[in-house]
Formats: sequence, C-alpha cells, structure tokens
Amino acid sequence: MRLSRYFLPVLKETPSEAQIVSHRLMLRAGMIKQASAGNYSWLPLGYKVLQNIERIVHEEQKRAGHIPILMPTLQSADLWRESGRYDAYGPEMLRMQDRHGRDMLYGPTNEEMVTDIFRAHVGSYKDLPLTLYHIQWKFRDEIRPRFGVMRGREFLMKDGYNFDLTKEDALHAYNRHLVSYLRTYERMGLQAIPMRADSGPIGGDDTHEFLVLAETGESEVFYDSEITDLKFGDRDIDYDSVEQCQGVLEEFTSRYARTDETHDEELFNQIPEERRRVARGIEVGQIFYFGTKYSEPMGATVTDREGNQVPVHMGSHGIGVSRLVGALIEANHDDKGIIWPEGVTPFHCGIVNVKQGDAEADAACEDLYKALSAAGLEPLYDDREDRAGAKFATMDLIGLPWRITVGPRGLKNGVVEVTSRRTGESEELAPEAAVARIR
Ligand code: ATP
Ligand code: MG
Ligand code: MG
Ligand code: MG
Repeated sequence: MRLSRYFLPVLKETPSEAQIVSHRLMLRAGMIKQASAGNYSWLPLGYKVLQNIERIVHEEQKRAGHIPILMPTLQSADLWRESGRYDAYGPEMLRMQDRHGRDMLYGPTNEEMVTDIFRAHVGSYKDLPLTLYHIQWKFRDEIRPRFGVMRGREFLMKDGYNFDLTKEDALHAYNRHLVSYLRTYERMGLQAIPMRADSGPIGGDDTHEFLVLAETGESEVFYDSEITDLKFGDRDIDYDSVEQCQGVLEEFTSRYARTDETHDEELFNQIPEERRRVARGIEVGQIFYFGTKYSEPMGATVTDREGNQVPVHMGSHGIGVSRLVGALIEANHDDKGIIWPEGVTPFHCGIVNVKQGDAEADAACEDLYKALSAAGLEPLYDDREDRAGAKFATMDLIGLPWRITVGPRGLKNGVVEVTSRRTGESEELAPEAAVARIR
C-alpha cells in the first residue's frame, strides 16, 4: 500500500476523552472512530488488525476440530424464554420489536440459538462430539462503556459451543478449548493466563478466564509468579488425545491464579511470599462447562448407545476478538506509539523515502516495494512529500515491526537502513538483504 493512496487519518493531538493508552493510540493512529457510546467504526488500519486476529482465531479453532458457522445478530425472544434467560438477563440485553410486534433482541451471546440448531438436526450419539463456533458481533448495553473497544457495547466475539454425550467428553472439549486458546494468544504475541473464575449469568461449575496482565485491566488478579514462566510454544498437540489436553490443563492450572471473585486468601498465603502477586488483568477470553443447563429445558437430546433419550452436555467458550486489539496495545507500546507483534501487524514493514522526488530514492523504494510484495509481504510505503521526521513519527505511532529507510546517502553505498520498532536497533543492508531480514 502506498500511503499517498491510503486512508490513515492520524491525529496530532491526544484525544482528551481517552483514559487509557490503547484507546488514545487507537484514535491517534486512525484505527477507529466512535460512532456512538461504545460503538466504533473500524478504519482501514484498525480493521486490518481485527482481521488478523480473526484469522488466527479461525485457524486455531479449525486446528482443534471446531466447525465454523455464522448465526445472525438478531435473535427471537422466544428462544430465550425457553431457557428462562429472557427475564433473567436484565438491562444489558438490547430488546426490540419487529413490525409485527414480535420481541427480538440483539444477541449478547448464543447458547440458545446454537442449541436450537443442534436440536433441529442432531439426534444420535453417533453425531457427537460436535463443536460449532462463529465470530460475530454481539451487543451488551454495558452500564459504563469505556476504554474504547475494550468495553464496547457492540463488540466482536468468537463464541464456540460443544455438544457431547457425557460429562467426561464435555470436559475433554473444555480442556481442548483451553489448549487451543493458549496457542491462539501466543500466536498473537500475547501472554494470557488461565485463571479460575466465576461463571456469572452463563451458569455452570467449571470455568477459566484468560487474563492479560496490564495496569489498566478491570479485573483484580492473584497469582503465583511461576505461572508467567509457562510457555505453550511449538508443541504438537493431538487435540483428540484426552491425556495430552488434560496434561496441558494441569500444567497451566497447577499454580495459583484466580480473579477476585474466586480468590482464596488462605490458599494464596500458602505460596512463598516472594512469588505472591496481586495485579490487574484484562479478560480476553473465558471457557465454561455447564452440562445440561440449556439442553435440558430446550430439549436438546440424543439417543445414547442403549436407545435412551439423554440431554447433551455442553460448554461455551469465548474470545474477545475486538477487545484483543486494545489488549495487544496495552501490552505492546512505548511513549512513541504502538509496537505490533509480528503475528497481528497490519503491515509487515514501512518504507520511508526520506527524499521523495529524488529519482534514485524513488526508484529504490519502488524496487523494494515490488521485492517485498513478491516475497509475500505487505509493505506500507510512505511516498508522501513530507519531512523525514514526520514520516518517522507516523511509522513509530502506527507501530509496524520494521521500518526500511531509503535515502540518497545510503544508496550511494548501496544500502538502506532497517530498523526494528521494538528494539530501535538499525542495520545497514543491501536492499535484497533487507527483504530477507524482514521475511
Ligand atoms: P467482562 O467481565 O469484561 O464484562 P464478560 O465476562 O461479561 O466480560 P464473556 O461473556 O465471558 O464476557 O464474553 C467472552 C469475551 O468477550 C470476554 O472474555 C471478553 O474478552 C469479551 N467481552 C465481553 N464483554 C465485552 C465488551 N463489552 N466489549 C468488548 N469485549 C467484551
Ligand atoms: Mg460483562
Ligand atoms: Mg467477566
Ligand atoms: Mg467472562
């Protein structure tokens, strides 16, 4: 992409309405524009990051054997009356009527709707296990929408639902989700720690939240510092293996890590004092096992091996896709701007032409642009007539992991400068070597 033809409405001033750094930087970098309270338009740069996160989530869900579908945002109130949640859900639910006076709602979550799909089409244990998921917009009329996309009212969530014959099978699905989530967050360059949590209005017994440690997080968390040393890494996991998934769960939940809702001071005090941590965290996902809470009232049953009709065991599993954009920035920035991890960056690198209009510099940038594109990389070429300093500031603000600086002085020696956004270190390299460096 050439910046002269792109739409990147960066702001010079720091917007006063933004209280936390990720919100400020998203506005300043031209990633989002508020449409109304807690409701945002995604501008090109922000949308690219959102799509990258979605892509990683899809890839990891499919790797775990989960099947993508797409359910609508608008739901019929009748389904929620069946589960008993229409009245229970309260004012966070946005309710409306269609022209025939039928009660509708903008889905805050999809347990009822997916259970309805299941009961319409699945009747035998032979069709299990099954996990369906989608990435779809949700609406929750949050009492205090704030921090930009972190606590929006309309927000993008991946929500997945497992259907299993037995509690044991459903707990395997739970563990499988935990493993796939660890992989998902790590691929984004994020450490998200599974912590024992409270189940809230979804209901159920077993639940973990995934938290990214950050001072601006809304949850208070208590943990054993050893947990932050755990890495999922490059493990080759067989998602069908009960032992392997259980092993990962045990490893990643063996140290004390809880949110304030489930915090137990006595247990916490058993950890050696130097390892006790009290901090704040951003909830970027949650997994639940809730058994037959929805299948029973809604009649989602299958015939088991003996021919009996039994309600299926279920769980639901969410990832805050749009919140992750903010969480990633909270965890990756400095005073100049954002520092995107490679896995989610909107462009792989920036090209800064320090002397736009100089025939040699322009030609070298064009060549570099072509070579990077041919290598499967997406560069953002700042080809505007602007001061080098202003171009550098924009690149630092939008946080691309690499900047290639091209100018007549370097070109005389056959080199360009490659700078890492994270370390600030620069190397002078021949253009071909610069391409190889970034790849
Ligand atoms: P919170 O405690 O922050 O209100 P939640 O527990 O109500 O979140 P879940 O029902 O667990 O949310 O939804 C799954 C994920 O969706 C959450 O872990 C979070 O990352 C994301 N999420 C929830 N509410 C919002 C929101 N208002 N704006 C953006 N993301 C959200
Ligand atoms: Mg909530
Ligand atoms: Mg929560
Ligand atoms: Mg939650």
